Amino acid sequence: MSSTEVRSTPLAALGEATVSVDAFVCKRVPKRVMQRLEVDDRVPATGNGVLLYPHIKRMLDIALAVVALAFLSPLLVMAWFWFSVKNGGRILDRKARAGLHCRPFDEYSFATDQRLLRRLPVLFNILKGDMSFIGPRAACPGEMCVECRSMPVAHKRSAVRPGLICDWWIRRHISLDYVREIVLDVAYVESTSFRKDAGIVLRALPGMITTLFWGDEPVEYPPRVEILNVRIDNLTMQGAVAGVVGLLDGRKPRQVCFVNPHYINEAFRVPAYKRVLDEAELVFADGFGTRIAGKILRRPIRQNLCGTDLFPRLCAALDEGARSIYLLGAAPGAAELVADWIRERYPGVVIKGCHHGFFSVAEEMAVVEEIARSGADILIAAMGVPRQELWLHRHLEQLNVKVAIGFGGLFDYFAGRVPRAPQWVREIGMEWVYRLIQEPRRMWRRYLIGNGLFLGRVLHQRLFPREWTVRPVENRIGE
Ligand code: UDP
Repeated sequence: MSSTEVRSTPLAALGEATVSVDAFVCKRVPKRVMQRLEVDDRVPATGNGVLLYPHIKRMLDIALAVVALAFLSPLLVMAWFWFSVKNGGRILDRKARAGLHCRPFDEYSFATDQRLLRRLPVLFNILKGDMSFIGPRAACPGEMCVECRSMPVAHKRSAVRPGLICDWWIRRHISLDYVREIVLDVAYVESTSFRKDAGIVLRALPGMITTLFWGDEPVEYPPRVEILNVRIDNLTMQGAVAGVVGLLDGRKPRQVCFVNPHYINEAFRVPAYKRVLDEAELVFADGFGTRIAGKILRRPIRQNLCGTDLFPRLCAALDEGARSIYLLGAAPGAAELVADWIRERYPGVVIKGCHHGFFSVAEEMAVVEEIARSGADILIAAMGVPRQELWLHRHLEQLNVKVAIGFGGLFDYFAGRVPRAPQWVREIGMEWVYRLIQEPRRMWRRYLIGNGLFLGRVLHQRLFPREWTVRPVENRIGE
């Protein structure tokens, strides 16, 4: 998501968009509201190819559903007989859903928990015209009424047929679901086109593969998980920002860290860094690799709390509370550019000072004293891992800040010195490939060897579960 989206969306709307279908209480929606919505929802989709594309899409849906049903017919017939015998005649489950223009329909599934078979009968819904392959999740009747109360344009969502995959589905399956589902759905309806749908199909492939292997996302997540002996606070983006802001009212200074596969590899290599992670107040899971590790180890990660995505949201929260920050790290001039970026978008945030990250040991105490004198609430350090974590930990008590967070290479992105991977690259979990192409000399070891090493360790822990002990090697970087 771009920073402009962050700015134009209220913070409350950015986080937990977990509209749980099962938890939804349709009964509470007054009939009067429902009737009005059913009328209001007859809003045509706007955007590219508005007149023709829905018809083309419908024809494609029918053609694909017919082909899929023909191809899968032996399996469907066998499943049909098997479930009729096994379940005493109960073959299909039906769930009440609101379709195009809020028209009610039953969504079909086989009466089984077998995840590969369960959803196949939805092909009949597509053939009947209740659903499409691509479109927003089919909502419960009345669900949209609740959305409309908090967001008036929410009614536009019902201007297209509900579908199996959509932007929200993709982001949910890659843990980038920071924006509320309804926001993405309305954006989809307003810009629906063949190109967009083709993009959705391609971007959905990694999510489809992970769903095939590991099933859908769990309804509940453990509040903390351990990946290779590194503790992770399993929060949503909104929860993470709230967690950091909450620390500002504490008495003691606290440290917040991010971990991704490379950082976890570093924790094996540098015992002092592992200790910092153990002692940190909050540790956030960053990146697709950590999420895959969580899937393999059956410790599901709630959201991908990437520092680059968290930073603008943190600034938005600090803006509301008129809090102050100090920016430390990266090459000379970068922190100042990040400060300009913040001032422009979040004028309520007080910038107490900036300093580059290339200072010598002799200059270290002068930097510490400057930060302490500034009286900033939060210190944002971007000096690379594990250097920044070790440095922050060593000086935490002297820095006179409430919270110190290590953000790695963050300033390079926000200063505009390193372009970030486009959204679609992030949505297919390939941001690391983008980084590798940008800086192959520096990154090949981290990604080509590091990712393999991390995956090997994860698979080893999955196959031979035991407590990992960090190899006591010489700490060459920090203390
Ligand atoms: N850096 C720094 N001081 C140093 C070494 C590095 O401020 O002594 C900065 C560097 O300019 C870059 C960041 O730290 O902006 C490290 O970027 P990288 O992409 O390696 O971050 P990581 O992957 O460790 O989060």
